Amino acid sequence: MPGFEFFGDEERKEVNDVLETGIMMRYGFDGPRKGIWKSVELEKEICKTFGSRYAQLTSSGTAALTTALAALGIGAGDEVIMPSFTFVASFEAVLSVGAVPVLVDVDETLTLNPQAVLNAITRKTKCVMPVHMCGSMADLDALVHICKEHHLILLEDACQSIGGTYKGRALGTIGHAGTFSFDFVKTITCAEGGVVMTNNEDVYIKCDGYTDHGHDHQGVDRGADLHPFIGYNFRISELHAAVGLAQIRKLNTFLSIQKKNQTALKNMLKQIPEISFRVIPDENGDSCTFLSWFLPTEEITRAAVAEMKAAGILPGNFYWFDNNWHYIRKWGHLKNAAALNNLNKDQYDALIALQTKDLSASDAIISRCVSTAISLLWTEEQIKEKGEKMVGAIKKALERSTVGI
Ligand SMILES: *Cc1c(COP(=O)(O)O)cnc(C)c1O
Repeated sequence: MPGFEFFGDEERKEVNDVLETGIMMRYGFDGPRKGIWKSVELEKEICKTFGSRYAQLTSSGTAALTTALAALGIGAGDEVIMPSFTFVASFEAVLSVGAVPVLVDVDETLTLNPQAVLNAITRKTKCVMPVHMCGSMADLDALVHICKEHHLILLEDACQSIGGTYKGRALGTIGHAGTFSFDFVKTITCAEGGVVMTNNEDVYIKCDGYTDHGHDHQGVDRGADLHPFIGYNFRISELHAAVGLAQIRKLNTFLSIQKKNQTALKNMLKQIPEISFRVIPDENGDSCTFLSWFLPTEEITRAAVAEMKAAGILPGNFYWFDNNWHYIRKWGHLKNAAALNNLNKDQYDALIALQTKDLSASDAIISRCVSTAISLLWTEEQIKEKGEKMVGAIKKALERSTVGI
């Protein structure tokens, strides 16, 4: 997820355009900004690149999810089905609009298990939110089908999968709405930023107002705007949008390097018959930011992680089962409903119930999974060296397990 690895003159030029006029806000100041509209330009570029009819930039990916949920009419009394393996932002956004996050099992796609989604549907379910984790996608045909059958909204959290596709369509553009994050470690970065994409004009107009205090952006100036509904400030700045504009022009380069590097590493790991790889519903659509792989048991996986650590190659290899950010096992704050202010009763009860929820099917997958981050900067020699060290460490762990130490 490495936009920051390719940062240079292009970003500086775009940012300097803004600094020259000094107009760092995306709205208004029509005269002094001298025709510089970086946020508008980036939104157009996003629509063109990903084939979305509308795009609304936000101050972060979390803000994009919050905005999308609000614009889709999801709030108090509603349940949103989401995966147990994601980034904390997914449930933060659901809680922030007053809705209840319902966390369900993932399968070997590392995203929502469609059967688990079906099992979780209640009268209160309003939305299914797949999270396309680690560069690749959920089984979208199955999820679209479920949403149609049950009249549910499909909101794609594609924050980690910029540039991924499913059957030729960009991830994030297939549901009623979808989001990207442009935070510092994502595939392309604005430093901080995000976007909601949708093909629905009504949803887009709501996103546009919601991210700017409810302004309808129809007045002759900001003071003359009407406020048809309550909004907040989730605006992106022109400086951030400028960075993103330079980055999005490099996206195809990033994707082709990722694909090449991921394929090279995968071919090396394939030597080990005990390794299996993440199930990818559309192999061609993998954005290849990570290579995610499994070993046969938790014990062997832990041993392999320890061997990789000893070999000095743990950085860049993520064992999510022990990670505090991405898997429910370590989300004590969520399971204890440790909010600073009062949650509504539905939310509080649902969070406390997570303490005893059976997610053993997810445990059985995530405890055997390692994701290797793919760098844009690796040389062929570096990939070979990294791959050899990984193969060596994994083989050691497998040998130890067969001799029973
Ligand atoms: C990064 C991320 C977000 C939130 O993005 P921010 O821009 O950091 O707020 C949401 N969901 C997922 C899956 C992410 O990886």
